[in-house]
Amino acid sequence: MGPVAGLVRRRVALRISGTVQGVGFRPFVFRLAAELGLAGFVRNDELGVSIEIEGAPERVEEFQRRLPAEPPPLAAIESVEPRELEPRGERDFRILESVGDGVARAPVSPDVATCPACLAELFDPADRRYRYPFVNCTACGPRFTIVRAVPYDRARTTMAGFEMCAPCRAEFEDPRDRRFHAQPNACPQCGPRARLLDPGGEPLASALHGDAVAAAAALLAEGAIVAVKGVGGYHLACRAAEAAAVAALRARKRREAKPFALLAADLAAARELVDLSDADERLLAGRERPIVLAPRRPGAAVAEAVAPGCADLGLMLPHSPLHHLLVADAGEPLVLTSGNVTEEPIAYVDDDALHRLAPLADAFLLHDRPIHARAEDSIARSPGAEPPAAPIVFRRARGYAPAPFSLSPPTQLPLLACGAELKSTFCLAAGSRCWLGPHVGDLQRYEALRSFTEGVGHFERLFSITPELVAHDLHPDYLSTRYALERAGVETIGVQHHHAHLAACLAEHGVEGPAVGAIFDGAGYGSDGTVWGGEILVGDCAGFSRAGMLRPLRLPGGDAAAREPWRMACAWLAATLEESVPPIPAALADRVTARDWEAVAALAAAPASPRTTSAGRLFDAVAALCGLRDRIDFEGQAAMELEAAAQPAERAAYPLELVEQEGADGADALVLDPRETLRRILADLAAGSEVGEVSARFHNGLAAATAAACAAAAGANGSGDVVLSGGVFQNRLLLLRTAERLQAAGLRVLIPQRVPPNDGGISYGQAVVAAARYGT
Ligand SMILES: [Zn+2]
Ligand SMILES: [Zn+2]
Repeated sequence: MGPVAGLVRRRVALRISGTVQGVGFRPFVFRLAAELGLAGFVRNDELGVSIEIEGAPERVEEFQRRLPAEPPPLAAIESVEPRELEPRGERDFRILESVGDGVARAPVSPDVATCPACLAELFDPADRRYRYPFVNCTACGPRFTIVRAVPYDRARTTMAGFEMCAPCRAEFEDPRDRRFHAQPNACPQCGPRARLLDPGGEPLASALHGDAVAAAAALLAEGAIVAVKGVGGYHLACRAAEAAAVAALRARKRREAKPFALLAADLAAARELVDLSDADERLLAGRERPIVLAPRRPGAAVAEAVAPGCADLGLMLPHSPLHHLLVADAGEPLVLTSGNVTEEPIAYVDDDALHRLAPLADAFLLHDRPIHARAEDSIARSPGAEPPAAPIVFRRARGYAPAPFSLSPPTQLPLLACGAELKSTFCLAAGSRCWLGPHVGDLQRYEALRSFTEGVGHFERLFSITPELVAHDLHPDYLSTRYALERAGVETIGVQHHHAHLAACLAEHGVEGPAVGAIFDGAGYGSDGTVWGGEILVGDCAGFSRAGMLRPLRLPGGDAAAREPWRMACAWLAATLEESVPPIPAALADRVTARDWEAVAALAAAPASPRTTSAGRLFDAVAALCGLRDRIDFEGQAAMELEAAAQPAERAAYPLELVEQEGADGADALVLDPRETLRRILADLAAGSEVGEVSARFHNGLAAATAAACAAAAGANGSGDVVLSGGVFQNRLLLLRTAERLQAAGLRVLIPQRVPPNDGGISYGQAVVAAARYGT
């Protein structure tokens, strides 16, 4: 090769890893190469995307510079590895067939909400996709839920059965079209179709010759409950403003109080129902389309039974064209709640849905594009005042899964972490990457266990990971623990529950530690075999010590104590007043018989009753003393109602004593003793104080004591970072008050954001701990 300008050529191979399949990456590469006059090829393979480019050296350089700088919006490039090759004299640039069915590590994109360009077509009477419920392009549409295997190509998705018509095929093959290689590309001529059926599975006459979505909207207007097949599963829908329909839905779902989510057509409709900050609006309208929790507006046109006792409503905007059409046709907000009987996993297979939901729905709006992987709606909250600075994801599923997380240190063995029990998730890891599976639900039920094992199997195939190391909770009776211990031919590693919460948050923020963690939740199996749940830990990803805890108390009646907050009120009163049978407080006088009260007081004193440091149970006790709730319908209900009752302007705080005590390992531990708090609560309630004041003072006092305990532990251990995690810290008031105090003390506060603070984040924490501990 001579040095003559214009004749010198250079050829470079680029290996791209990250979320680069199914996100319009190859067309982007094609257009960039065409613009720069480069030859070569691009193709998907098991590791991501491989590219070879050839041409004038300065053009090759420009390509290498612009590729990572201007990727398509849904792509997430993790690395670009270049390698010099001999030029071949190629003159054109091609997109090659995907290769390989072997070791697949290319992340599959999450499902993406309808993009503005597709939305414009959906509502344009002149467009060939006018009112077509499955319009999509390379920037939007279903991904994770339709993928059967990788590399991501139509033949390996649930769109394989739909043959593209000539116009769709032309779009698919034209590198300048926005549907170039849009794998789920479809139109009314060739793609999936919506149908409206009665609960017996027969087509409804109203939709036989017309528009199934319009017919479904007409039924909703008449007050019907309609099962709607969405992207990741079935929902049940009815008019949000119609009390009778909402009440019927509650009765049929056997869901007495848990809030229902709402679907609003657009931001303008959402603003009628809830107060939205700019951050809320960005989160609502973002491509993940989670359910966003926001304060309900006074007078919002929503039936009371949608979210009884809640200050917030959970609201989402349409995440698919079908949902856009349905809520537009309905002309008003809808309830859109998961298609299941309470606590079962959401139905996603048509036959199963028709069977399970027939008693719940008056009609079925479904379609013939199969859902391969179930994904429930995600739930998130945007930041309010600082901190937190970024949204917090409470339930991570549709729109978020299976975007990868990084793992540092990397795992030496392919790894599966099995999570906890409530809000179950699993996590698979290889090297420095891990994939958190979508929310499964409560693993106490057979349906959920099946969903869990199927999900693990699907992820193992999707990411070609055969676990050799399996992490699990220390609780021997969790089905997730049993599943882990029953897997043949693997090494297993038990991870303490609250350590997993701490490690998950450290890893999410890329912080090595050691850090202090206030980890407050309902219950987790402790290293000493007691029930932990109000812990001040000091540790890193590999290990921890227990620097403090809530004062231990005997649980009066195991699981019943969690379902019946009045029992915790009894136990805490017995401890506070130091009486074997404390007097029944006024708020419970009509709610509990003297006999039951005495029996529970006896349990609270019985040596056989397990000891707990649960912060969640303390909230239960206070909620019961305040007369807010003595029996719950869903986990966290009493605490949620106590928070909702609190007067935000009240800044006074009840005292909560910190007592230094020798811990189990001989080191000093701080005990958070709330007995004086409870005495003051009793006195204030007896003096006629408002529940809103009492609740606020309780929150403020617990926050102050927690911050003081964390600051002391940080000082003693030379750490400047404090993690606040565990399900109890979903309580925004407690979180903000504690964080304020810590920041005032000069400490940095870390909270879980992309990984849920509740037990949905445990599997990721277990993976982090197992990777850090293995081989050490
Ligand atoms: Zn689109
Ligand atoms: Zn077509």
